[in-house]
Amino acid sequence: MLVCLLIVPCAMAQRTQFKQGWNRYSPQEDISLGKQVAADAEKQLPSCNAPNVDAYLTELGKKLVAKLPTGGVEYPFEFHCVNDKAINAFALPGGYVFVNRGAIEASDNEAQLAGVMAHELSHVALRHGTSEATKAQFAQTGVGILGAIFGGNAGGALLTELGRFSAGGVLLRYSRSAETQADVVGTQVLYDAGYDSRALAQFFEKIEAESKGQNPPEFFSDHPNPEHRVERVQEEIDKLGGLPRNVKRDSAEFEAIKREVLALPIVRKETLAAGRPAPRPIGPPPAPSTNYAEYHGSAFGMKYPDNWKKYGEKDDISFAPDGGVMEGEDGQAGLSYGVIVNVTKVEGDPAGEKALEKATQELIGTLQKGNPKMKIARQPGRVRLNGQPGLSTYLSNESPAGGEETDWLITVIRPEGLVSFICVAPQKNYEKYDQTFSSILDSVRFGK
Ligand SMILES: [Zn+2]
Repeated sequence: MLVCLLIVPCAMAQRTQFKQGWNRYSPQEDISLGKQVAADAEKQLPSCNAPNVDAYLTELGKKLVAKLPTGGVEYPFEFHCVNDKAINAFALPGGYVFVNRGAIEASDNEAQLAGVMAHELSHVALRHGTSEATKAQFAQTGVGILGAIFGGNAGGALLTELGRFSAGGVLLRYSRSAETQADVVGTQVLYDAGYDSRALAQFFEKIEAESKGQNPPEFFSDHPNPEHRVERVQEEIDKLGGLPRNVKRDSAEFEAIKREVLALPIVRKETLAAGRPAPRPIGPPPAPSTNYAEYHGSAFGMKYPDNWKKYGEKDDISFAPDGGVMEGEDGQAGLSYGVIVNVTKVEGDPAGEKALEKATQELIGTLQKGNPKMKIARQPGRVRLNGQPGLSTYLSNESPAGGEETDWLITVIRPEGLVSFICVAPQKNYEKYDQTFSSILDSVRFGK
C-alpha cells in the first residue's frame, strides 16, 4: 500500500509518546550547561583528529536530528569523534554528542552506529540529563551539594571547582526507564530516517553478548541495560506499521570511515574514559585563613575564611576550601571540608514549643535519606547562636575523602524557617577545623 508513504503521519497516531520528566532547568539552561561541559570534555578527551570522521558523524547526526522530536527547541547539536577504544558514546544536554572510535569499530553497519546515535540524541530531546540531575538534587535536599553544582545559574562556581566535565558526569547517569524511553524514541528516529530500526537493539545486544557479563562495555555504566530491549524495540516498530521494505542498513561511506577509524593511532588512556569523571587527587586542603570574608543571605549574615569559596546562592549556600569538594565513590559530588548553610520551611507554628526539636529531627531524617551511613554521634544539646536559642548535634558520616567525617549541625528557628549550619571535616582532621567552625558560627547575625 503506497497510501501511507504519501502521507507520512498516517502511522504517527500509534507511536509511543513520552512526556518530559520533572526538570527544574529550562531547555536554554540545558544548552548553556551542556556547552560548558562539552568545552571541558573536548579539552580532556583525546580527539580522533580525523576531520573526515567528524564530518561523517555530523552528516549522519543531522540526518537523525531532522527526525528527532525536540518539542520545537533548537539545540546546537555537535558531533565529535573521541580516540578511545572503549565502546561508548555520550550526549550532553543541549546536543553535544561524543562518539568513541570504539563504538564505530564495534558497529557492523551504518544502521547500528545510527542506532547508538539516535539513542543518545533521544536522551537530549527528552532532556534526561537535567531531569535526572533534578531528581538527584531533590534526594539530597538539605545537603545542597548538587544544588550548588547546578543551582542558580546553570554554570555555578562548583562546575569550575570540580572540573566541569567531572561535574558533567552527574548529567550522564540514566535510569532504566530513561533507557527504555531513549530506545523507543531512538527506534522512531531510525525508522523515520529510513534505517533498519532493529539495529538499535541489535547493537546493544551484540556488545552485551560479546562481553558475556565480564567487563561489560563502558556504555552500560551510564546507560543501564533495560529489560526486554529487543522486544520493546520490535513492539515500537510494529506500532509504526512494521519494518518497510528497502530499509537502509549500510553504506560505502560507513565502511570507508570504519576503515579510517581502525587505522587511527591508539591513544593511551591516562585519566578519562568517555563520560567518567577523573579521579581527584586526595590530599587535605590548605589550612583555613584567619582572615574572613563576609556573606549576606536574606535570613542571615556570616563570615568565612577568605581562602574558601562559596557555592550556591541566597540561603542555600556552602563554603569550602580548594579541594574541599570532591567526587564520592558513588560518583556524586560531596563536600568533605567546609560549611553548608540552608534554610528550610517549617511546618506548623515556628514559635511553638518543641518546634525547633521537631524541625531538627526532620532535617536529620532528610539528611540521612541522602546519606544512608549518617548517624547521630551526640544527641542535640541547647546552645545560643547570635542570642537565639539553637540546638547543637554531632553527626558522623562517610567522608567523600575516605574514612569517617564529623558533621556538626547547628539549627535555629527563624521567621524564614529552620536555619541550619553543617560544619564538615574528616574525623582525623576535625580538631584542626574546630576553631574555624566556632569563629564562623560566632560571626552569624540574624536579621531583626
Ligand atoms: Zn541511554
